[in-house]
Amino acid sequence: MVLSAISTPGDNILLPDRGFPLYSTICCRNGVERRLYPIDLDNDGLIDLVQLEAKIDKKTKAILINNPSNPTGIVFPKWHLEAILRIAYKYKLAIIADEIYGDLTFNNMKFYPLATLSPKVPIICCAGISKQYLVPGWRLGWIILHNRYNALCEIKSGIISLAQQIMGPSSLIQGALPDILHNVPNLFFENIRNLLQTNSDMIFSRLIRVPGLKPLRPSGAMYMMVKFDPEMYGNESDFVEGLIREESLYTFSGSLFNAPNWLRLLLTFPEETTNEACDRIEMFCQRSRRIYNWHK
Ligand SMILES: *Cc1c(COP(=O)(O)O)cnc(C)c1O
Repeated sequence: MVLSAISTPGDNILLPDRGFPLYSTICCRNGVERRLYPIDLDNDGLIDLVQLEAKIDKKTKAILINNPSNPTGIVFPKWHLEAILRIAYKYKLAIIADEIYGDLTFNNMKFYPLATLSPKVPIICCAGISKQYLVPGWRLGWIILHNRYNALCEIKSGIISLAQQIMGPSSLIQGALPDILHNVPNLFFENIRNLLQTNSDMIFSRLIRVPGLKPLRPSGAMYMMVKFDPEMYGNESDFVEGLIREESLYTFSGSLFNAPNWLRLLLTFPEETTNEACDRIEMFCQRSRRIYNWHK
């Protein structure tokens, strides 16, 4: 709704590359140009701010920032968010902050909601319960408009019109929301963060030792990206489909996020399952390397 309310055909919106594919789908449908700004997985998973700034022109309507990020699991540090805000301020652009993963952070990384870091930039914050409360599919979220300089008034009425055209989340789930927000104990979140931390540490320390694999250490969301060497393991479908066929292990193809030769792993399984998944990846990689060397 936010993407649709903020732009008309011919406009452009800056989107993260690598990022959540739905943004592009919505922009394409609306005839809005998706202008991708790079996130460098080979380094730290931060935004290349020089390139971000270079993509802005008169037709740019907003910068979309997804923090913590899907698929990278990277949480942007405060200084990085402040640098993004400075760019938005300089060009008088609104920021769409997809903060669905919010406080889902670990490795002592703190999440800073963008809107709390500057009173100067109009921010549209999108969040919901699906990730932080582990109820994907419930489709209950909210939009918070930080309407600085009254820059978002028109967008607000657009969003209200759009909200009246969709059926919205079921009333049963809406009815549960106050209880969910008030009564879920802190321990629930602590347990999730501990599990994410444990799984992330385990997967990272095991896969970094596998020749030709290079995991990117996450600090948030629920994912880990792992790069693999196609010289050693063949192309992406060989790897992803091989893992399914031979080890019953499902991973997401990096190409879904415009990151070929990467995999996206999930950090939410029980420790034991995660440990076994690592065993299976190691066995699969060992076999694949043998086959590959044989062919050579
Ligand atoms: C999951 C997700 C959402 C929204 O999730 P819903 O299940 O539709 O509430 C939004 N942005 C990102 C980046 C996500 O990963």
